[in-house]
Parts: sequence; structure tokens; C-alpha cells
Amino acid sequence: MRLKRLELSGFKSFAKTTVLEFPSRVTAIVGPNGSGKSNIAEAIRWVLGEQSMKALRGKKGEDLVWNGSASLTTIGSSGVPRMGKASVSLFFDNRKKELPIEFDEVIVARKLFRDGANEYFINQSVVRLKDIVELIARMGLGEQKHNIISQGEVDRLVL
Ligand code: ATP
Ligand code: MG
Repeated sequence: MRLKRLELSGFKSFAKTTVLEFPSRVTAIVGPNGSGKSNIAEAIRWVLGEQSMKALRGKKGEDLVWNGSASLTTIGSSGVPRMGKASVSLFFDNRKKELPIEFDEVIVARKLFRDGANEYFINQSVVRLKDIVELIARMGLGEQKHNIISQGEVDRLVL
């Protein structure tokens, strides 16, 4: 199940809508310290249903929403006022019908409003967290085929 594309809007340091295309099997994201690389990994965790604020380096949901103050190194978001909503969408290639969904593309999305309201979507339809969890299990994510190793965790594995 190939991840094709990631879209972020209002999520952490990504105020403006930001689109990352993953055209090949291996993608590396590089950038200066504080430019948002870890935020991208966290966006992927989050849209797949992450419930732990610690894993997302925040204390409360609001910390995930663009707060209007970027560090000088954060790419592309300067001048945008704080936003009311964060949203992240992951686009999967389903041409081989690995997922039992009739569409060639499966879009998993999550939105969070500053007041705490949280919504999940599969191909634009509102779903429950449980539906996302089930979908990921079918993808082989959540079993042993996918891993997200956050910054600092490698040390824990190696030491
Ligand atoms: P490093 O190379 O040091 O690991 P990085 O590229 O992984 O850096 P991140 O940790 O992803 O960088 O990004 C940190 C930046 O994200 C900080 O500048 C921080 O201010 C910004 N940031 C985090 N949450 C928000 C938010 N809610 N609103 C605005 N900016 C935010
Ligand atoms: Mg980092």
C-alpha cells in the first residue's frame, strides 16, 4: 500500500496548505533545525489516529494548531495569523484494491478545531476513529509492516 501524498493545513508549523508528493519508494525530507521535519512525521502519526499528545510533543490538542508564531527557520508560514483548525490528509494508492474500497485512491484525513472538536474522514466521509484503526489494520500498518521511529527513539533501541 503506497503512500502517494500528504497534505497539511494549519498543522503545527504548516500554516498554509502544504503538499508533499511521494513519487518513489524512498523519500527523505531534509531541512534546517526547527524547519518542521519532525512535525511532518507527527502529522502522519496523527492522521492515522495517534491519541498520545506526548508522541506529538504537545500538551493539549490546541498545540497542534498553527499558533501564528513561527521561528525564523520555519519554512513557508511567516505572516499567517493563528488558525482555528488543523487538518492533515494522507493519500494512498489503491489501484491494486488492497483495501476493500472501490476507489483507486483512499484518502484518510483528520481535522482538529481549536475548541477541541476532532473529526476523522475516509474519502471525505466522516468516520469514527475505530474505522481508521480498522482501515490501517487492513493496510498492514499497525501490524508489523510499518514503523514510525521518532527523533531520539533510535537511541532507545540501540542502547
Ligand atoms: P530538528 O532538525 O531540530 O529536529 P525539525 O525540522 O524536526 O528540527 P520540528 O521540530 O518539526 O523541526 O519543528 C519545530 C518548529 O515547529 C518550531 O519552530 C515550532 O515553533 C514550530 N511549531 C510547533 N508547533 C507549532 C504551532 N502549533 N504553531 C506554530 N509553530 C509550531
Ligand atoms: Mg526533528
